[in-house]
Amino acid sequence: MILRHLLAAAVIAVGACATSATPTVDNSAFAGPPLSAEAYLAHVRTLASDEFEGRAPGGNGERLTVEYLERMFAAAGLEPGVRLPNGQRSWRQEAELSAATLLNEPVLTIAGADGARPYVYGQDFTAWTRRLEENVDIANAELVFVGYGIVAPEAGWNDYEGIDMRGRIAVILVNDPDFDTGDDRGFGGRAMTYYGRWTYKFEEAGRQGAAGAIIVHQTAPASYPWAVIGSRVSGPRFDIVRADRGASRAGFEGWMQEGLARETFTRAGLDFDQLRQRAQTQGFRPVRLGSLTGSIALQTRLETTRTSNVVGVLPGTTRPDETILYSAHWDHLGRCSPIDGDDICNGALDNATGTAALIELARRYSAAGRAERSVAFIALTAEEQGLLGALYYQQHPVFEPRNTVAAINMDGINHMGPTRDIEVVGFGKSEMDDLIVRAAEARGRRVEPDSSPEAGYFYRSDHLHFAQLGIPVLYTSNGIDMLQGGRERGQALNAAYVANDYHKPSDEVTDAWDVSGGIQDLELLYDVGRGLADGSSWPQWRANAEFRAAREASGR
Ligand SMILES: [Zn+2]
Repeated sequence: MILRHLLAAAVIAVGACATSATPTVDNSAFAGPPLSAEAYLAHVRTLASDEFEGRAPGGNGERLTVEYLERMFAAAGLEPGVRLPNGQRSWRQEAELSAATLLNEPVLTIAGADGARPYVYGQDFTAWTRRLEENVDIANAELVFVGYGIVAPEAGWNDYEGIDMRGRIAVILVNDPDFDTGDDRGFGGRAMTYYGRWTYKFEEAGRQGAAGAIIVHQTAPASYPWAVIGSRVSGPRFDIVRADRGASRAGFEGWMQEGLARETFTRAGLDFDQLRQRAQTQGFRPVRLGSLTGSIALQTRLETTRTSNVVGVLPGTTRPDETILYSAHWDHLGRCSPIDGDDICNGALDNATGTAALIELARRYSAAGRAERSVAFIALTAEEQGLLGALYYQQHPVFEPRNTVAAINMDGINHMGPTRDIEVVGFGKSEMDDLIVRAAEARGRRVEPDSSPEAGYFYRSDHLHFAQLGIPVLYTSNGIDMLQGGRERGQALNAAYVANDYHKPSDEVTDAWDVSGGIQDLELLYDVGRGLADGSSWPQWRANAEFRAAREASGR
């Protein structure tokens, strides 16, 4: 789960959410028994029990979790969702993951007319490779400043215009060109777009054929301090095993401290701040950093492991080829650093809640009778290692993306008690907003937009990989305005969870839990999905959403 509300000093109340488009379904009061808080909480307790060992991918915790999901999905009336090559059906979509562990402590050497300067791993820079190669050796590759490293045809923007990056290292700014200024230059103003995420920048540098890609860390636009990056220098780095074994990625990827970037620009006779400003304007072109070159050698140990997404489906009655997806990651951290002798990170909120919600929503759908369209429930693996189960699904979609109506992702369901509001992360991107606004109004509640869009939380959870397929997505977070205690109490409880329990052994079900508010949130997610499943509408991305082009390209 992502750190929602950590940066949000207050949820910004922006009116009652413009609903200019045309929601087409009346999604209030569907037939069938409501969601059961008791059944839901029982699933959470089982999944978050010590017996499940924190649900790490690849081990005994995975075996228990996947078997439990198979049993519960079957009991809820679902059918196995995955068609195997031999024609049989399975609950499991098996993925191969790679774990790459750096064996050496690499040195980044930046050389120029004034000599060669070596820099310290973890302190000045970090680096890794996504190529499945044990040795990567980059020698004397020219450094090129490519601004924000963005190629966005819909914004008429190409930071790589006119340069061949083969054999060169891209030096890239974090976030996007209008973060500083806030005036929309094609990238949503202060709000982050996918082009602002570091994951995108490395992908693009790979597409450009760069030998290396290094992002300049700056605390405000990154939204976290260097310590977050500098502390992640040991232990394995996970990825899915790609068809090209990472050949299309840059030779190395990494970050450098802002101070190192400034020193390097000065050595090249350039002004970092000036170039940064220039990179924020239309028509920026890449700039060579004088005659400076970079060298680095990485030695990596490679291992692979197998893990599974779990997929169940309730086939539609009249249009079974059209599918609504619900997703939640089943995995968590497994064994972790002990606190008070407890070394199991149970991940009760993160994300036994979302996983339990899949089961209970499936039961609710079955009990209400099949819908016209199919509804799929996907428990995703390896979210905590970098959204890898969702990434695998993106590369191997079980349901045809152009016929997938929408995806609703759940990661951390409210356990604090009832709230008047529910937050939509990434509000303003698609007509899914209109559907949940309607659903909330019908139940006397209200939707609040993303409280910290500049932090880019929308891009930090599994639904990102569905969005990249063009599928409109809905991702909510718990409201803050509590029936008992209002915003003050809501913010205090959120802050306490982040400080005390997030990714710690104490993320467990306790007597303080009150899931009644979570159940109310899930009823809204049911209403939205059920309305789509019983109807024939196709929610659209907004005109300026960066995933709209992918939807159009899919022919939908
Ligand atoms: Zn999570």
